[in-house]
Amino acid sequence: AMNENCLFCKIIKGDIPAKKIYEDDEVLAFWDIAPQAPKHFLVIPKKHISGPAAMTEEDEQLIGKVIRVGAAIAGENGIGDDFRVVFNNGAGAGQTVFHIHMHILGGRAMNWPPG
Ligand code: AMP
Ligand code: ZN
Repeated sequence: AMNENCLFCKIIKGDIPAKKIYEDDEVLAFWDIAPQAPKHFLVIPKKHISGPAAMTEEDEQLIGKVIRVGAAIAGENGIGDDFRVVFNNGAGAGQTVFHIHMHILGGRAMNWPPG
């Protein structure tokens, strides 16, 4: 269900614009508005889940799809085979939007550890 106060639910609904990369009935991918690498996009489920820690067993297949679609899109959008996948959980870990999202970052050397 749509969360009225959620930025990403508003993007899904079309109330806030985004540079979409991929969309189907379950997931949406779009470029991050403040990229932290030459290529940085987000993949979200259309179902509002506040973050990884709020997932239930019934969300497992959906978030698996988020990962699969994100990896496939990376290859088609100039990122190639080397990219970082990040899910932030909690404000202390840098989560600022409380609708679960997967970051994919690439297009430069992705160093480890990330800090
Ligand atoms: P996080 O810090 O893990 O919660 O990630 C939220 C991400 O959403 C950040 O990388 C932001 O730059 C990005 N973001 C915030 N607002 C928008 C927007 N309107 N369109 C695209 N990306 C956004
Ligand atoms: Zn939401």
